[in-house]
Amino acid sequence: MAPRAGGRVPTRDPVVFLTYDDGAERDPRFVHMVRDLRLPVSMFLTDSVVGPGYGHFARLRAVGAALENHTLDHAALRGLPYPGQRAEICGQQDKLHARFGVRPRLFRPPYGTYDTTTLRAAADCGITAVVLWRAAMGPAELTFAHGPHRLLPGDVVTVDPDELSGPGLRERTARLLRTVQGQGLTVGHLEDYL
Ligand SMILES: [Zn+2]
Repeated sequence: MAPRAGGRVPTRDPVVFLTYDDGAERDPRFVHMVRDLRLPVSMFLTDSVVGPGYGHFARLRAVGAALENHTLDHAALRGLPYPGQRAEICGQQDKLHARFGVRPRLFRPPYGTYDTTTLRAAADCGITAVVLWRAAMGPAELTFAHGPHRLLPGDVVTVDPDELSGPGLRERTARLLRTVQGQGLTVGHLEDYL
């Protein structure tokens, strides 16, 4: 079974990790931000959401972003039989391999919902860690799934993609970075820690 990394990574380094889900927003200014700030971001991509938009993620990858797996169709996996879960995860591995020549090691289940079948299917698809999040950056502020209501070293933060009517990912990221820096933290490269 693929180990569950959960929403925190065990480390004493003063780092948090920035993750982005689905791939719905494709603002070129976000690519410039990642490039200019050398931000080590991880993008968890869903094929049916990205659709014809993979060129944007190729540009992000070229400036240092990691591209990871978030299923083919954004299905809620918990309770689904093994073949269906495997198809969602391995299918997206194949898509990302065909597009970028890499096989992701990290997987995030849609809605954060999964079961032991997910962990088994993920491992069988080459995934080495199932990544959730402890903090989510919404339109204006951070919310926390559990634990203290402040960022801690090793926290995985998702920049919430579900409210696209508000500020875009670039603006949310800028706000988040002010909080990160205000707490004496920096942004780490998730793939270096898992
Ligand atoms: Zn998602």
